[in-house]
Amino acid sequence: SSPWPRARTLVAGLGTSGFAAADALLELGAAVRVVDDSESAATAERGTLLQTLDADVRLGPGSTATLPDDVDLVVTSPGWRPSTPLLVEAERRGIPVWGEVELAWRLSRPSKPVPWLAVTGTNGKTTTVQMLESMLSAAGLRTGAFGNVGRPLMEAVLDPEPYDVLAVELSSFQLHWSHSLRMHSAAVLNLQPDHLEWYASSPDPMAAYAADKALVYERVTHACVYNVADRTTERMVEEADVTEGARAIGFTLGTPGPSMVGVVDDLIVDRAFIDKRHDSALELAKLSDIQPFAPHNVANALAAAALARSFGVPATAVRDGLRALRLDGHRIQTVGERGGVRWVDDSKATNPHAAEASLAAFEPVVWVAGGQAKGTTFDDLVRRHRDRLRGAVLLGVDREVVAGALARHAPDVPVIQVAASDTGAMAEAVAAAARLARPGDTVLLAPGCASLDMFDGYAARGDAFAAAVAALPETPGED
Ligand code: ADP
Repeated sequence: SSPWPRARTLVAGLGTSGFAAADALLELGAAVRVVDDSESAATAERGTLLQTLDADVRLGPGSTATLPDDVDLVVTSPGWRPSTPLLVEAERRGIPVWGEVELAWRLSRPSKPVPWLAVTGTNGKTTTVQMLESMLSAAGLRTGAFGNVGRPLMEAVLDPEPYDVLAVELSSFQLHWSHSLRMHSAAVLNLQPDHLEWYASSPDPMAAYAADKALVYERVTHACVYNVADRTTERMVEEADVTEGARAIGFTLGTPGPSMVGVVDDLIVDRAFIDKRHDSALELAKLSDIQPFAPHNVANALAAAALARSFGVPATAVRDGLRALRLDGHRIQTVGERGGVRWVDDSKATNPHAAEASLAAFEPVVWVAGGQAKGTTFDDLVRRHRDRLRGAVLLGVDREVVAGALARHAPDVPVIQVAASDTGAMAEAVAAAARLARPGDTVLLAPGCASLDMFDGYAARGDAFAAAVAALPETPGED
């Protein structure tokens, strides 16, 4: 009989995934208590809904301060740090702490064992998962993109119509709170410093972050996909306690070796999942099938192709999936052309590594950056890309972090700092960038920082940028 009707559960954090978890637990008959520091309108609305389903909902600071006595399971939001007193107390008492991903996984077994193809890494996860979803759909499979992309896994689990396979984006936080997960195949795209504040209580935050990402390879049955250009990901496969029979598959922007997918001339080529009796390599798609074209998107497409191929997706579906894909906005999206200057919104570049990927695609470039730096530094980025910088415009709370790196490594690059801390700062930044740019330049919003100091998220930041560009006065001579 089901253990759930006797379970006393605590859902910690009432975001999208917390709501989905609480809803599913109530459906199963569990007793559900929900706590969240926030009393925002969105949280309160979710809380009211859950209350009508008989959840015990407590919001506001204080609601999360202590762990009640009568709890058998905590389901935590990925945003909660492991050092949160309530979670520390749960671990001390030996109470299991799961993320929504772990809960979804447990609930999907053994009745609906749908295979998961998972993507993690610092940057490119959403893009890769969307490419993968598109390839799987092109192969005629019923699939969807779930997880960190914004659609809780619980939705897939509760969907009465069965899926053939899921394309799953996993953050390191979600991996941290997943214990029994088993995936068909998984890719780690890259590993760079980010989210280190989440691991601040650990003696070596970067190592703790890497260790969570590395967990993914120990939970794979078929293919561990790694980035040949990122030694850290390769080392993670080498050092992981990989399941017997699972293969290590590399992706590379160069010529692929055996057990790799890569690029030959203008083609994406598979040397890993081919019938070796007949061929030594198989053409999957043309580079021109990848939109928008940038080296990091080729890497993302290769990783998606490796995952799809590990699941038996035919070469034609890899190509058709890439061609059919329309990526979400705020990822290297051109939002205006004025007076010979191209304006590009890459607001989704929320850490230095992501900003670096898009900076590398343009020259000369006026770089608009800043926001919450999350404990990262910009020295390496500036050192590598100073020659392509026409200038920089900095905004947000941690703009001095970026300014410091520019002063140290690119003292000749003109820098304009915008001190305003309301949303109007973006219009000021755009006006400043327009003064620095010359015809032929690109103005690139690639903040390298989170947006929450000034905006409701990266999308709102990108929208503010686009709106300010649209409102720029016409330049003389423009038609
Ligand atoms: P994530 O879901 O991991 O945050 P996205 O696919 O949303 O990643 O891309 C976020 C940003 O990261 C993009 O706007 C781009 O600037 C950068 N980016 C995308 N793919 C890569 C990659 N493979 N390597 C480095 N940076 C990347």
